[in-house]
Amino acid sequence: MAFSEATKQAAFTRAGGQCECRRLSCNVHATMRCTTKLTAGRWHAHHVTAVASGGSDSLSNCQALCIPCHEKTQTYGAA
Ligand SMILES: [Zn+2]
Ligand SMILES: [Zn+2]
Repeated sequence: MAFSEATKQAAFTRAGGQCECRRLSCNVHATMRCTTKLTAGRWHAHHVTAVASGGSDSLSNCQALCIPCHEKTQTYGAA
């Protein structure tokens, strides 16, 4: 399962050009929200709840993350 292009586009628009990561456990950034700027084609769509755990491919389960943040998620590479 993967996000549709329309969902990824909507997430990118919602993010406003900034990584949506707010995980305090993420050591990529010390601030509440990652300040990394996202550029088209150089970010990853992250499943907030992993598909393997019942997460959906809807926009509400999609976060636009910079690649370093995505690699720090526990489910990176799993779904
Ligand atoms: Zn980030
Ligand atoms: Zn992060």
